[in-house]
Amino acid sequence: MIILIGGTMKISRSKWDSFIKCPLCFYLLEKHKIKPPSTPGFPINSRVDALLKEEFDELRAKGKPHPIFEEYKLNFVPYNGLDEETLRKYRHNFSGVRATSKKTGIEIYGALDDLWLNKDTDEIVVLDYKATSNKNLEDYTTSSKHYHKGYLRQLDFYAYLLQLNDFKVHDTGYWLICNAADQSQTSFDKKVNFKTTLLPYKLKTDYIEDILVDLKACLDSDKYPKSGQDCDNCRWYNEKRRLSEEIRSKIEKK
Ligand code: SF4
Repeated sequence: MIILIGGTMKISRSKWDSFIKCPLCFYLLEKHKIKPPSTPGFPINSRVDALLKEEFDELRAKGKPHPIFEEYKLNFVPYNGLDEETLRKYRHNFSGVRATSKKTGIEIYGALDDLWLNKDTDEIVVLDYKATSNKNLEDYTTSSKHYHKGYLRQLDFYAYLLQLNDFKVHDTGYWLICNAADQSQTSFDKKVNFKTTLLPYKLKTDYIEDILVDLKACLDSDKYPKSGQDCDNCRWYNEKRRLSEEIRSKIEKK
């Protein structure tokens, strides 16, 4: 989301990421209000997120680690250094964690699932919950899938927002992946079993500002930017247009 209040540009993490995925789609929406084809939401994933938040909140209140930390031999606990209201804001899409971009002055923000604390180093641990169903769970950090690359950028952006808010951020972020691919489950019986995995990722934040500079230049320009490489919609549209032009020219020649 981009909001302009009193001349200050405000850009959400998802908007920043949409610019990386396809500058043209970003430009068409932000400058000309042309929306891309809509996609349905992911209500089951949202439900898993909500339940995980409750599970971690209970442990936060007791100052106890989650069993998955023990499983992975991590001396972590849910971070309890924020008051309830601030944590609620950090998690809410329209408020999120906020900071000012150093190179552009843009106000940037993003909503987190949670924060953990590395008790060995006293650093904040950045994370995101992911719900999926995959027989072979891929390592997002080595995957070439464009949406997996977006998962990496998501953690990077959260880490950067927190750094700008003077948090000491642990150099490794995590995905808590809930995978509905428990092969031992043989009937539905009104439930789906999930396997949980913690996947680590070495965070990288040194490119975030440069993307914001490009994004601002794109918005300030009257030139159409290039489209992204990973979207099927324009490929479909361009092929359809090429075919209809070919058919029309054949008809005209007759
Ligand atoms: S390639 Fe996809 S994302 Fe980019 S402009 Fe076309 S529809 Fe939008």
